[in-house]
Amino acid sequence: MIQLKQITKSFGSHRILKGIDLQVEDGQTLAIIGPSGSGKSTLLRCLNLLEKPDGGIVQIGAHRYDSSHITKEEMLEFRRATAMVFQGFNLFANQSVINNIILPLRVRKKCDKEKGREIALRLLKQVGLADKADAYPSQLSGGQQQRVAIARALALQPEVILFDEPTSALDPELVNGVLDVIRSIRSETMIKIIVTHEMSFARDAADAVIFLEDGQIIEQGSAHEVFDHPKQERTKKFLQNFQ
Ligand code: ADP
Ligand code: MG
Repeated sequence: MIQLKQITKSFGSHRILKGIDLQVEDGQTLAIIGPSGSGKSTLLRCLNLLEKPDGGIVQIGAHRYDSSHITKEEMLEFRRATAMVFQGFNLFANQSVINNIILPLRVRKKCDKEKGREIALRLLKQVGLADKADAYPSQLSGGQQQRVAIARALALQPEVILFDEPTSALDPELVNGVLDVIRSIRSETMIKIIVTHEMSFARDAADAVIFLEDGQIIEQGSAHEVFDHPKQERTKKFLQNFQ
């Protein structure tokens, strides 16, 4: 389970997150929607401590971050509990597809080469790219690269997988292939948190949705509640942009 209590974050004098309370149950998929600049990426980065919150508590399973003190080892454990899929894929350009998956496994999970290879091949098959194992990222489409990035994240078996606008950099015809892969992991036990502007995807793939604006959660509920019966005027207005 993930629990956030009163998370705050500023950059200089600019308050970005203004007290975020949130709970996500094991296995759930949470979609985060909201306008550009509302703090969605910052919130994701506070979850894996790529950014340290200024105040509040982040709890992921047994790992607890309380803004006042954390050791380096605790910080590493926190990072290992999470994996992130970025808008720009962030693959190692000078490594083959399969090595992109094996190398983090060796570093994070201390896997030997053979075991790493076995896991990587299984996941490449799962995302429909078994035949691309020895290709280099530059030889793949953006959609294929993102599917490799998802396979890499899954290989690490994190407690939480964070997706930051995973389809925003893709040509429209490649978006669905990536969304299908994300849909296909819905039943896996890890928590999935997805920042997205793909509203129809969020509606059918997410268990819960939060609408973030100006560093605050304006509305939250089930996908059905937020999309079909939004309570706040701000949410209604935002959703109108996607109809
Ligand atoms: P979103 O992902 O919803 O578009 P972000 O979390 O990226 O929003 O950004 C929220 C605000 O925080 C923006 O105004 C952005 O300019 C600012 N911001 C984000 N990261 C930094 C940073 N490292 N330093 C300074 N300002 C930042
Ligand atoms: Mg963002």
